[in-house]
Amino acid sequence: MNIILFGPPGAGKGTQAEKMISHYNLPHLSTGNIFRENIKNKTELGKKVTSILDAGKLVPDETVVELVADELKKETYNNGVILDGFPRTVKQAEALDAFLLENGKSVDAFITLDVPEQELINRILSRGQGRSDDTPEKIKTRLEVYRDETELVLNHYMKKDLVKEIDGVGSIEEIFERITSALS
Ligand code: ADP
Repeated sequence: MNIILFGPPGAGKGTQAEKMISHYNLPHLSTGNIFRENIKNKTELGKKVTSILDAGKLVPDETVVELVADELKKETYNNGVILDGFPRTVKQAEALDAFLLENGKSVDAFITLDVPEQELINRILSRGQGRSDDTPEKIKTRLEVYRDETELVLNHYMKKDLVKEIDGVGSIEEIFERITSALS
């Protein structure tokens, strides 16, 4: 099963992805985590994307698409994947669809977590992970980028009738329960 977990920054994608990987026994692919790992390890990719993540902007599509395509070729993902933070632009979505098609696969479900904006800001500011992009100013940029570029990805998968809208307000367990029933 290839599942896209979608939603604005702070919607709880990472938290729900953690629960889904054990429930569905699927690997997790978070582009944000991969970038942060590369920044921490000072790799070439890390050096290339540090200032972009710091600013709350998007890494160029070519870079992200190449990264995800290389990753998805690995045997680990043969039975499917939970994609978190990707695709974030319509270009990325088109590239993903084409890549999966070439490999005889497709997106099976698109889960979007709905959370009101003020709640998103509160969550990010209170999660205290020490991320350099978790300041009020950077959060504002990330939400703008989400509205301007990322939200269009929702329409792309709506047209394909794959979208399951989940109320992202409630306890972690309640939200997880909504996801599993939407997928059953
Ligand atoms: P959040 O959803 O809280 O913003 P992520 O960990 O998904 O956090 O992403 C952090 C940052 O990593 C983004 O602000 C962006 O700079 C970069 N990034 C992650 N995924 C992508 C992507 N698919 N395309 C472009 N940039 C990305």
